[in-house]
Amino acid sequence: MSDKIYDVVIIGAGPAGLSAALYAGRSRLSTLLIEKEMDGGQIVITSEIENYPGSLEHETGPSLIERMGKQTQRFGVERASDDITAVELIGDVKVLKGLKAQYKGRTVIVAAGAHPRPIGCPGEKEFIGKGVSYCATCDAPFFSELEVYVVGGGDAAVEEAIYLSGFARKVTVIHRRDELRAVKSIQEKAFAKPNIEFMWNSAVEELKGDGLLSSMVVRDTQTGETRIIEADEDDGLFGVFVFIGFDPQSEIFVGLLDMDGPYIKTDENMNTNIPGVFAAGDIRAKSLRQVVTAAADGAIAATQAEHFLRNV
Ligand code: NAP
Repeated sequence: MSDKIYDVVIIGAGPAGLSAALYAGRSRLSTLLIEKEMDGGQIVITSEIENYPGSLEHETGPSLIERMGKQTQRFGVERASDDITAVELIGDVKVLKGLKAQYKGRTVIVAAGAHPRPIGCPGEKEFIGKGVSYCATCDAPFFSELEVYVVGGGDAAVEEAIYLSGFARKVTVIHRRDELRAVKSIQEKAFAKPNIEFMWNSAVEELKGDGLLSSMVVRDTQTGETRIIEADEDDGLFGVFVFIGFDPQSEIFVGLLDMDGPYIKTDENMNTNIPGVFAAGDIRAKSLRQVVTAAADGAIAATQAEHFLRNV
């Protein structure tokens, strides 16, 4: 257990947390950035970042996050690899309890982000890593020349379907309605791909197989009828990539911070209801969840943390 009391402790090293760390580090605040997995959050599972200002042509999530991480390190930010499971946020010194250690800060920026939402159907958990995936950039090569299904109709589903179409023989997007939610430019790209098909008004009900995923039950959302989709006999398996949104990782803050559903409520300066505690990025209640808004939230939160420290 470290007794050091940091000026700022940031939970989460996605775009919001890295941006907050950059701003706090540049302000010469003693800063600790805690991440439980690898840097980047959802961005490391994103194959292409087309709309972050200044991103390179064919910028991938991992390449952008690598540059963000390196930039942050130039400003003396300390790092911890830990999973924060409990917090004490009232008082001048906030205490964060992790699986490995306990951390103290005069201010806390919660940038813990969100994790992929599961379908929640029978078989889904069982076949994770055996056909079910939430990360095309991680798992696409395993499905080279095989068939894959992508569940969802938003930006993530359609963008990742396009990425997967470069590996798989055929990609079928399974969407619960007859119209995509993804922005039009992404839709146009997907419609132009000869090996992407769409299964409209459909929902996955069950995933099955003998060791590897090889069949699934799909329900027609309009008629309620179900049908079974089997893997091609020569293949013996197929992939199901799930992109149906993200759930904020806010469980440990429920009852402590004001919430809007599962999201942490803040004002426009990222202040939560507890002085010295800020929230930034996808964990926060807001209208647009993208890299650019996460980075902006992080910058504002760190700047406000500095103001807070100056005034106490
Ligand atoms: P999203 O925009 O919330 O879309 C989720 C999709 O999954 C929707 O089409 C939704 O259907 C469907 N869905 C939700 N729950 C479902 C369920 N239980 N069963 C079946 N389908 C379900 O999520 P996202 O695509 O992950 O994107 C999340 C955020 O990141 C968005 O703000 C998005 O704009 C952003 N993002 C941006 C980019 C980009 O700009 N390049 C790329 C990826 C993500 P309905 O349409 O019927 O609701």
